[in-house]
Amino acid sequence: MIISWQSHIGKYLHRCDECGEEFNGRKNQQYCNLKCKAKHNNDLAISRRDREKEMTAGYLRNIELVSKELNGLTNEVVTVSMERLLALGFDPTVPNKRVKIEGDLWYQIGPVSYRPLIESNEVELIKLE
Ligand SMILES: [Zn+2]
Repeated sequence: MIISWQSHIGKYLHRCDECGEEFNGRKNQQYCNLKCKAKHNNDLAISRRDREKEMTAGYLRNIELVSKELNGLTNEVVTVSMERLLALGFDPTVPNKRVKIEGDLWYQIGPVSYRPLIESNEVELIKLE
């Protein structure tokens, strides 16, 4: 973060985004040294990896939950309540692929698909083979 222009030395006074120390440097400099820059970037990479792990875990959990509800059925629609799916740990925010099945919009997660029915708060599930 820039604090001020230091005209007597031709540099900007900054506060390091990582450690909070003040330092002089170029206008676009964010860190007081390479160690702080590396720490900041490593922390970003760790949180990015953690988010990816959570996303993957949620994706696999959704597939497992829907598969259990389908109980081995393929090419047949099973209807359950959204409350039940959510109570089992289904996460509707996990990325999915939008697909059209017989003209209707479904959300595909791996081998299974689901379609929320807005009027009834139920969800249709299917595994196509
Ligand atoms: Zn620093």
